[in-house]
Amino acid sequence: MGKNIPVSIFWFRRDLRLEDNAGLYHAFKSGNPVLPIFIFDKNILQHLEDEDDARVTFIYKAIEDLTKLCRAHGSSLLTLFDTAEHAWEKLMGAYNIAAVYTNHDYEPYATARDTAVKNLLAKHNITLFTYKDQVIFEKDEVIKDDGKPYTVYTPYKNKWYQKLTPFYLKSYPSEKYLNNLLQTEPSALPTLQEMGFVISGLSYPNKSYNNIIDRYAQTRDYPAIKGTSHVGVHLRFGTISIRQCARDAYASPEKTWLNELIWREFYMMILYHFPKTMDHAFRPEYDRIEWLNNPDQFEAWCKGETGFPLVDAGMRELNATGFMHNRVRMVTASFLSKDLLIDWRWGERYFARKLLDYEMASNVGGWQWAAGSGTDAAPYFRIFNPDSQLKKFDPKMEYIKKWVPEYADFSTYPKPIVDHAFARERCLKAFKKALSK
Ligand code: FAD
Repeated sequence: MGKNIPVSIFWFRRDLRLEDNAGLYHAFKSGNPVLPIFIFDKNILQHLEDEDDARVTFIYKAIEDLTKLCRAHGSSLLTLFDTAEHAWEKLMGAYNIAAVYTNHDYEPYATARDTAVKNLLAKHNITLFTYKDQVIFEKDEVIKDDGKPYTVYTPYKNKWYQKLTPFYLKSYPSEKYLNNLLQTEPSALPTLQEMGFVISGLSYPNKSYNNIIDRYAQTRDYPAIKGTSHVGVHLRFGTISIRQCARDAYASPEKTWLNELIWREFYMMILYHFPKTMDHAFRPEYDRIEWLNNPDQFEAWCKGETGFPLVDAGMRELNATGFMHNRVRMVTASFLSKDLLIDWRWGERYFARKLLDYEMASNVGGWQWAAGSGTDAAPYFRIFNPDSQLKKFDPKMEYIKKWVPEYADFSTYPKPIVDHAFARERCLKAFKKALSK
């Protein structure tokens, strides 16, 4: 082993599966035995605030599963705990690397990291081959006729459908080539503790979505029922294939769920083309808003103690499970940015810390939509009334009773931290002022 045999390395990142994995498939086709690796990236982990971060446990379990599967084929998943560049320095010292294969990642940090690794490998005459895997269409594949990226969802979606052919939904059958894995002794997995984390007590949703697709249009807006798939975390870390999801969704006459998968790609395309929107308004004039940023009110929002039962239920669901229903994400985000006039970036960061399915592109997209500053933004004067939303989408108060058990009726519930009618007017004034400057 070691330096003598030329190996192809496959670098797992957010594609934690052996089946239908584009980059892995191409590595298997390279003709060299394939050494699979995963790097717990110190640059990412050091920014996580919670030692029991549930995403780290999720990834850890997925890596344990992959390790077992690789061992069953006489191989091993080599797992490192390091910065990416340093890990690659070590790998180049230890192996005769013929080529490296991996899948695209579109977030700003990831693209910068991958460019640095590509350059480092190139200095040693090693090519980094990269593939599209986490979306059906990426980067410039769905663009306007004039070659510019779309900035509005509906025309993007229409072009997406126009462009779709069976080719784009086809699997890359990587699972058929597992015998091409490098035969090697098992390597030790760093422990969560060594990396500064402990196991999270949260439970994770399973990967099933097929019973959701046909009734999704009717059930998706009601947080008391399981009317959405909860597969977000699997899409985030690639424990499920987007081609499989999109194929199944496309096969149904009911396309609402597929349209949501297209929102995901739309936001990824937006973040790729407009990376500054990760922390700046998509519409720059919205960066002029004079936020109030009251820290006590922010804390009340985080804890689910605003006195608005739907907002409180949503925040408590998030804190307890790492999930929040989409309708409630919209209401809590609107409430923070518009009723409390707290900078959407504070809320975006809080969701980023807590959501199991946290995805920078969709989170920033969702927050900017709610704040009015994004693509397809709800106009700033459309401000959700949290109590009307409650009546409409949780009429029997089932969701409220689950997450805010002390709630009996409005008269005994803690007083709202802000009067909605007053807050609405205040918001309109603040937004108008910023936009007329
Ligand atoms: P389903 O409703 O079953 O949909 C299937 C999949 O489609 C989702 O898992 C997701 O990958 C994608 N999807 C669905 N709705 C959207 C949408 N509006 N935008 C983009 N993709 C979508 N989604 C995330 O994946 N990560 C986030 O960090 C995130 N943050 C959000 C923040 C705010 C303020 C808002 C309003 C929305 C956010 N969303 C985010 C979008 C949406 O709320 C979640 O994708 C959805 O609630 C996840 O539940 P599910 O897996 O049951 O999805």
